[in-house]
Amino acid sequence: MNKTGEISVMLIYTGGTIGMVIDPNTGSLVPVDFEHISDQVPELKKFGYNIRSVSFDPVADSSNIDPDLWVKMVNTIEENYDNYDGFVILHGTDTMSYSASALSFMLENLRKPVIFTGSQLPIGVLRTDGKENLITAIEIAAFQKDGTPAVPEVCIYFDNKLLRGNRTTKTSAEHFDAFSSPNYPPLAEVGLHIRFNYSQIIYQEVIKKIIFHKKFDNHIAVLKLFPGLNRSFVNTVINTPGLKALIIETFGSGNAPTYKWFIEELRSFISNGGIILNITQCHGGTVEMGLYETSREMLKAGVIGGGDITSEAAVTKIMHLLGRYDNISSIKSLIDKPLAGEIS
Ligand code: ASP
Repeated sequence: MNKTGEISVMLIYTGGTIGMVIDPNTGSLVPVDFEHISDQVPELKKFGYNIRSVSFDPVADSSNIDPDLWVKMVNTIEENYDNYDGFVILHGTDTMSYSASALSFMLENLRKPVIFTGSQLPIGVLRTDGKENLITAIEIAAFQKDGTPAVPEVCIYFDNKLLRGNRTTKTSAEHFDAFSSPNYPPLAEVGLHIRFNYSQIIYQEVIKKIIFHKKFDNHIAVLKLFPGLNRSFVNTVINTPGLKALIIETFGSGNAPTYKWFIEELRSFISNGGIILNITQCHGGTVEMGLYETSREMLKAGVIGGGDITSEAAVTKIMHLLGRYDNISSIKSLIDKPLAGEIS
């Protein structure tokens, strides 16, 4: 809130469908001029907030989002952190869950809302879901409870639901309801009213200064198991030059084949200093290592259980921890503990 009591929200357009309009000359989709977003969404003027828009140049389809662009998002937030009450990041839906997860780890001690949104249909087409998503994301970013932001977290707002970003996954390429949060309830549900689920939102008990983390190390791999897994493929993945951490997407509650060779491959990677995290391919539920014989051997070999973390949060968390710490034992001790509410 500025000195006159006006709420300020910053919109950061990174790219994606939401920012597209149809070029009247060519008929094809082109990015909108975000500096003048209220020409497309005149409703924004009715808020009475100070809304400033900035756009990445060039804009990025979210398939091209990478750690450098996460740093660019965080730099924009850092430069403007003291001057805005909340931030809305407009982003393509395809990798939005990765970016929201990454930013949740990069913004330690966050005390302001950072709300990702996007749309399935461009803002410039008649049936767009983009306008409602944008308008409500701004309202949530601006919403205050007892003089402080109602949701000081990195979230995704989409199709009437506010979800903790690092709990989400994109589950539909067709429906407006594109994101799910299988293991954590919505932080708010939107109908006639915006109903916040205050007991599920993280509030800092002791106020600490925000820390902007900007280093990632991408020497990681994700191995999705399937029946009939080929030994030489596993061996090639594990022997990828420079590989520091491997995420295995296992079956059910964290189960894998008990083939001797498979366990041997994992054991040798770990004894050479590698980290292995076990996450489940299931959309809901958690890894429980040791529950079945099919995970007991992995546990003995030193594989770490990832609980109910999503694949998106696991990937970004490990790249973040590898970038932040040199010491393998520090990383191992943090990997299965919640840093930003990503694991139950
Ligand atoms: N391909 C687009 C993207 O993720 C789709 C979208 O915006 O929804 O950037």
